[in-house]
Amino acid sequence: MTDADPPPSVCSREAFLRNLQEHATPATADQATFGLVLVKLSHLRDINNAFGFSAGDDCLNSIGRRLLDTVRAHDLVGHLGGGLFGVLVAEPCDEALLELAINRMLDELKPSVTLGERSIAIACRAAGGLYRDHGPTPDALLAAVESGLHRVFREAQSYALLKPRGYGRVTDDFTLLRAVEAAIDNSEFTLNYQPQLRLDDHRVAGFEALLRWDHPVYARVSPERLIPLAEKNDVIVPLTRWTFNAALRQFSELTGLSDDAKVSVNLSAQLLTHLGILDIISDALAIWNVAPHRLMVEITETSMMSNPEASIAAVHNLREIGARISIDDFGTGYSSLAYLERLPLDELKIDKSFVRRVTDNEHDQKIVRAIIDLAHTFGMHVVAEGIEEVSTESLLRRFGCDVGQGYLFSRPLSAEMIDHWLHAQPAGVVV
Ligand code: C2E
Ligand code: MG
Ligand code: MG
Repeated sequence: MTDADPPPSVCSREAFLRNLQEHATPATADQATFGLVLVKLSHLRDINNAFGFSAGDDCLNSIGRRLLDTVRAHDLVGHLGGGLFGVLVAEPCDEALLELAINRMLDELKPSVTLGERSIAIACRAAGGLYRDHGPTPDALLAAVESGLHRVFREAQSYALLKPRGYGRVTDDFTLLRAVEAAIDNSEFTLNYQPQLRLDDHRVAGFEALLRWDHPVYARVSPERLIPLAEKNDVIVPLTRWTFNAALRQFSELTGLSDDAKVSVNLSAQLLTHLGILDIISDALAIWNVAPHRLMVEITETSMMSNPEASIAAVHNLREIGARISIDDFGTGYSSLAYLERLPLDELKIDKSFVRRVTDNEHDQKIVRAIIDLAHTFGMHVVAEGIEEVSTESLLRRFGCDVGQGYLFSRPLSAEMIDHWLHAQPAGVVV
């Protein structure tokens, strides 16, 4: 760490990740390698809460500047989001140098940050590893160092230097899956809530809980990538338990809802026939003291059709504990009428692909109209998802659709924002 001038500034996450990839040339065993260090401020949220976001930003700026002060000219410092920083310790690097670098960084980060008259104590922890020894690809190295950092936090150490170990072939999915497991332990998931409004009077009928994962390195991972991956592995079980508990807890904390407003939670295809799912759901209802009829379990038409007989049994069981059942993404799964009749369904959600086209396609209008009539015949109410335009809403209302959900009314919102949103509506009515 004795080289000339420090690099001029802290780079963005994108630039840092790009650089990391560029450093990873196909190296032979005797070539010099580089190191990666992740440094995390452990209580950014507390700082934001106690002193305000600008104080939080000032602390992050100060950490970035101090990191720049400790590194060599060719090293790179990046702010990866939240309280997380990455330092690429350029080649040549070995374990001894990496450990020295980490110690220097942590020493430099010990003093409090002074903001005017105020002095804010900061606490950072770190983990580091060497490219090739600790990960055969940059992504694998990142995942390994990241899980090392989680361990540091879990075990309240100040830093960890990864131990070399053999790596097999690492796929992206594999790397991500390991991160999913760590993310459950570290509560990295959140739920967003999207309001559902009755189309006749715009009263709030309920909210759909949608899973969000803001991974510190991979940024936002969409549920459409995450869920199928988790389904390939037992991770889907704890993830589902977490989702039902978080949704029911947050729902139980909302005030100002009408008594029949519901929270909708998506249930993955694989869990529909999982033996423990009834316990997971009824335990969560009991813990958070939510009346079962206020929970709408959304199951996609496709997942029901992938195993029709088992799904019928599962849906009956769910209905027996008092939960309501919705058939999601309807129109994409080719259910037969006879099949629908055998299911005690409460709600049908028209897939957003039909909703999007309904104003300019006569054929889709006929389908949507038929779906609405069919659902009503079977005693279900109908939700249209993905409503973005006023003209779509008007048409669907004319067709007798009961409830709407979509960007026109609101994007999915965080739990805090949904509370504000709800209280901004006059008596729960959107005008
Ligand atoms: P979904 O259950 O059909 O959820 C509706 C999706 O449509 C959500 O995407 C929502 O953000 C999006 N959306 C809502 N309004 C509009 C609109 O006006 N226009 C457009 N273009 N899109 C709109 P998201 O959140 O990305 O979720 C995608 C899918 O991932 C969900 O589709 C659901 O199948 C699955 N998913 C989400 N959360 C969970 C979960 O907790 N568990 C399980 N098993 N699956 C989940
Ligand atoms: Mg859904
Ligand atoms: Mg849907």
